[in-house]
Amino acid sequence: MNYKSFLLGFICCTILGFIAFKTKPFLNKKLFCYWQTKTTPSLEQQAFPILEHDTYPFTLPALDYEYASLEPHIDAKTLETHRIEHHKLAIENLNKALKDFPAYQQKTIIYLLENLNQLPEKLSKAIINYGGSHFDHTLYFTCMSPDGGTLQAGTLNDHLQKTFTSLDAFKELFEAEAKNLLGSGWVWLCLDNSNQLRIFSSKNYETPFAQGLFPLLVLDVWEHAYYLKYQNKRINYVKAWWHVVNWLQVESLYYHALKKHN
Ligand code: MN
Repeated sequence: MNYKSFLLGFICCTILGFIAFKTKPFLNKKLFCYWQTKTTPSLEQQAFPILEHDTYPFTLPALDYEYASLEPHIDAKTLETHRIEHHKLAIENLNKALKDFPAYQQKTIIYLLENLNQLPEKLSKAIINYGGSHFDHTLYFTCMSPDGGTLQAGTLNDHLQKTFTSLDAFKELFEAEAKNLLGSGWVWLCLDNSNQLRIFSSKNYETPFAQGLFPLLVLDVWEHAYYLKYQNKRINYVKAWWHVVNWLQVESLYYHALKKHN
């Protein structure tokens, strides 16, 4: 290499080095933004198909079936009281809480539940309790149907069998979770971010959103959900509930979650 080539190489390297040094923060920012858009789903993608557009003032969602239509598994009196007393009261309290926070009145319930850390403390507490109750109850009532009880062959059926060895084994684990949950709460079937099916239980009115889980199916194990008919025999309530599980709805949420994750 002669002196001229060396000098040319040196000048080129210096110029390239200078350009790289100057553009590094810009490139970093660009790469970070690219990474962020690749890993953080947009709010639209995060939206849950149930209550997706539900904002203040919240109202009691319609029920697709008659109160007596889940008999004898879930009795009409329990179902009616559950909906028009417990669920409705939660919605009233949720609206009362949001009345003082107009900046959040246009936010959907899913957004509020997914962004608890960004809310004022007083509102956050109300959303955890009343917002959680509104969401949990809405999903619970939607997860039941007089035409329910049977999960048809298909992707979800295969996935449940692959994960838990059989549908019966899944039900046993789910029942054990419900039986062992101390006090009031909920038992869920969820899809996690790695598309794995998981049984999850939550206390009071916590939702799986806080754990980054996508809910597919939920069972209310607060005593008000079963005490009139089953008294302290929670397990009998759980076993009867399988007869009315709206698996079509569960499958629909499952496909929505898969689409969201992929
Ligand atoms: Mn309840």
